[in-house]
Amino acid sequence: VIHTLLQNVRNNLKDLLRSRPDVLEQLDHDLGLTYKGMGWEEEAKGLLEFIFDYEAWTEPGEWATTTLKWGPQDLIRRIGLRTCPYCNRAYIYSVSRRKGNVEVRADLDHFFDKAEHPLLGLSFYNLVPSCTTCNSRLKARTPFTLDQYMHPYVEGFDDDAVFRVGKHASALDPQQLLEDPESIGVHIENRVDAANPKRAKINSHIELFCLEKFYKGHCDVVADAIVRYRMYTPELVRALISSFGRGVLTEKYVRRVLWGNYTDIEDLHRRPLAKLTRDVLNDLGFTWKD
Ligand SMILES: [Zn+2]
Repeated sequence: VIHTLLQNVRNNLKDLLRSRPDVLEQLDHDLGLTYKGMGWEEEAKGLLEFIFDYEAWTEPGEWATTTLKWGPQDLIRRIGLRTCPYCNRAYIYSVSRRKGNVEVRADLDHFFDKAEHPLLGLSFYNLVPSCTTCNSRLKARTPFTLDQYMHPYVEGFDDDAVFRVGKHASALDPQQLLEDPESIGVHIENRVDAANPKRAKINSHIELFCLEKFYKGHCDVVADAIVRYRMYTPELVRALISSFGRGVLTEKYVRRVLWGNYTDIEDLHRRPLAKLTRDVLNDLGFTWKD
């Protein structure tokens, strides 16, 4: 059993490290057949944990500092994700201080739990930079499959699940809104129809990561967005652009400063609560034009 397993690992090593999530899931299943249910499962898992040694890679110690060319910090930097893809509430960071050799960084979540899937312990597409709350506290050891949960490298909420405040919000008294933002309320609308499997995945995601509960704590940001929406007029934008002088600031950047966040879909990962801001503006009826 062990011999066959090792041979299979060697033959599939590159694919195990580099494949996309759907291929990883299949490979893990197929290679798992060579040792699962054969009476050697614990031994095989121990061996695989030794081969795909995530702990040694993340905390290499003195012995490896000269042999490991790069580590989790480099991976996080190269992926370039700026906020947690599970919640968009916390920054992803990777910082080291030379003095005292201090390193602080975001978590790397194993989408497929590494204790259950030791073959995928070091697979690139199984390592998702995320915040500690989502990774260690909420997801923890929850078994994830591609059928049940969205893999952040494959799919996201996009416009299939959106934050809603309701159009009435723009008619509320701005002073009152800012003083008592909790009066607005915010919820997430799942727009996917029941026949589409994505609908259940979105619901599972919202539930597991407590998104509606957490976002109720961000009503002040919603209130700001509503008031800003009411302040936002083409005249104000033109006045701001011309106050900086011709060609200094484009409307795109004036908008970002006015909204207090990124609002282009491809930039939503850059700052916490960017999706909330964008969705609220959409909900109020803001029309995007570039
Ligand atoms: Zn998170």
